[in-house]
Amino acid sequence: MTSLLRNNVQELKGIGEETAIQLGEMGIYTINDLMEYIPYRYDDNRLRDLAEVEHDERVTVEGKVHSEPALMYYGRKKSRVTFRLLVGRYLVQVIFFNQPYIKKQMNLQDIVTITGKWDKNRQTITAQKFLKGPQQMSSDFDPVYSLKGSITNHTLRKFIRNAFQLHQSKIVEILPSNLREQYKLIDRGQALYHLHFPDTVDDMKQARRRFVYEEFLLFQLKMQALRKFEREHSKGISQKYDLEKVKAFISKLPFPLTAAQKRVVNEISADMLSPYRMNRLLQGDVGSGKTVVAAISLFSSVTAGYQGALMVPTEILAEQHAESLSELLEPTGLRTALLTSSVKGKKRKAILERLETGEIDILIGTHALIQEEVNFLNLGLVITDEQHRFGVQQRRVLREKGESPDVLFMTATPIPRTLAITVFGEMDVSIIDEMPAGRKSIETYWAKQDMLERVLSFMEKELAKGRQAYIICPLIEESDKLDVQNAIDVHSQFTHFFQDRYSVGLMHGRLHPDEKETVMKAFSQNELQVLVSTTVVEVGVNVPNATLMIIYDAERFGLSQLHQLRGRVGRGSEQSYCILLADPKTDVGKERMSIMTETNDGFVLSEKDLELRGPGDFFGKKQSGLPDFKVADMIHDYRALEVARDDAAQLINSKDFWKDAEYQTLRNYLESTGVMQGEKLD
Ligand code: ADP
Ligand code: MG
Repeated sequence: MTSLLRNNVQELKGIGEETAIQLGEMGIYTINDLMEYIPYRYDDNRLRDLAEVEHDERVTVEGKVHSEPALMYYGRKKSRVTFRLLVGRYLVQVIFFNQPYIKKQMNLQDIVTITGKWDKNRQTITAQKFLKGPQQMSSDFDPVYSLKGSITNHTLRKFIRNAFQLHQSKIVEILPSNLREQYKLIDRGQALYHLHFPDTVDDMKQARRRFVYEEFLLFQLKMQALRKFEREHSKGISQKYDLEKVKAFISKLPFPLTAAQKRVVNEISADMLSPYRMNRLLQGDVGSGKTVVAAISLFSSVTAGYQGALMVPTEILAEQHAESLSELLEPTGLRTALLTSSVKGKKRKAILERLETGEIDILIGTHALIQEEVNFLNLGLVITDEQHRFGVQQRRVLREKGESPDVLFMTATPIPRTLAITVFGEMDVSIIDEMPAGRKSIETYWAKQDMLERVLSFMEKELAKGRQAYIICPLIEESDKLDVQNAIDVHSQFTHFFQDRYSVGLMHGRLHPDEKETVMKAFSQNELQVLVSTTVVEVGVNVPNATLMIIYDAERFGLSQLHQLRGRVGRGSEQSYCILLADPKTDVGKERMSIMTETNDGFVLSEKDLELRGPGDFFGKKQSGLPDFKVADMIHDYRALEVARDDAAQLINSKDFWKDAEYQTLRNYLESTGVMQGEKLD
């Protein structure tokens, strides 16, 4: 960037100290900031045929004044000028509010151009601006900027125009010419100009296309440079596992691995063997078989002489994992242990001691794993399940328990590719995109609340076959704010309904951990046939005999969450069902219910979820950590994001990138972000 563009905006004509302060509040300090202050939308001034304009849409039309404008005052200082306007074959009403002078300016038979909001039902345009004579708005598209204080769109545009007149030639190209040629991207100065002063739709498109690519490329370069830096500077451990033993272990599993499981096991193994520290995300839909992949990796680590740890978000999950892992691993002589906050006293002390002396190979637990008193002899591999439920801080503490243990984050929330590329750009990603053979897919139905009776008789049939059922409610107890089903009421309704024919359990987040455990155990041992629960059963719980799930007020849940919930059934050999009870009011709500009935593919659902909800909501606003792009949109431009990611990877890994003059501006950019000093990104 030439230094001149870094100069203060006050150098520009018409910008004094006061204005500069206000611009500063908009994040504009330098001439460059001003030139890069991108409009968030454009007003379209092109003439349109009213037949194609939607209700409430903004439109510009040209027409002939067809009735004498009438001025009417009402209230205090309020006025309205109305007249009829002949637009092509339409005779429409035009209203100007609080601009009494309009009456004098409009005469019968005048040709005028009017911009305003179209009320289709009343065939009325509420005018915002007008010009006399045939269309002559200064441009077809008016950029609209987000503003603060007393700065208006008009003055801001004036400043920007001024900046471009004086300084456009000083805008420096940042993209290397080979990439610009490859994608036919216009140069930076021209693109910026077009974003502020577009003449045609194509101008805007080309300018946008260029900046989408630039933003994604820079972002990906930053992420990947960080990853490269971390890899090369992290003193990871090279875990020299015993390949023969690992192979033997795999061959003794009760089932052959799927191709996808084999692939991810290889990816993980390569990371463990390498001297770099593994930082890998393992994605796989519910039931895709992540646990066995975790078991193999932990086994490998132990054959290399290390200890392993598996951390999960809840006690129930910890217990289930401890059980399934000990089943898989203990026959091979490995020693596993479970550590949660309910493991106390002598038992806890013994575990901690055995951990320090290396008598425990694999520790499974909740957050209790990262307490200070927990010390490993030789921690080599840390696996966390459902990683986004752990804070960044907790993950770091755990990582710091070993020298530099390899870290694998597992998640059953199928993170859309688009998001994975961005949020986890500094991680390697492995995906299990295949279900074990012979798995029956869950049949999902959407029922309106008034079909409850039929749903109940279906439920009776399943229970009569000896199966079990989940009933999910959005709330624990009655709320005066929300008119939705709550677990406590539904539990008593069903208890009453089944009398002593079936036992109905109740599960929710406010139960004491011991109570939860008791209920869950009773359900898994079929002492309870029906479990009414809130979403606490969402993660991981495994009761293969449960073949039916009924979800009340299903429209209140996100698609990914519904999919997670649904994953609690379909875990055995019998056909399973999920019934969504919902009366969604909106089209989006209806669409979401239909999508659930149409696909069992978690990745498809998560993409849809992202599309319907937007990325901010996906992980909850706070943790999303999504970058803010000025021009690019992660969802709609995801193809460009993929392209940019590949290009960034190629650049980062090529020697030329680090020395050729062509890439100097990109190197400067990386330098300025601090990633080359290993500074952590937010
Ligand atoms: P996830 O944790 O990914 O939701 P699990 O690891 O709990 O899935 O596996 C779900 C079920 O599938 C388990 O009962 C497991 O034993 C079984 N399973 C895993 N891999 C295979 C496979 N390759 N073939 C057959 N069954 C498998
Ligand atoms: Mg699992």
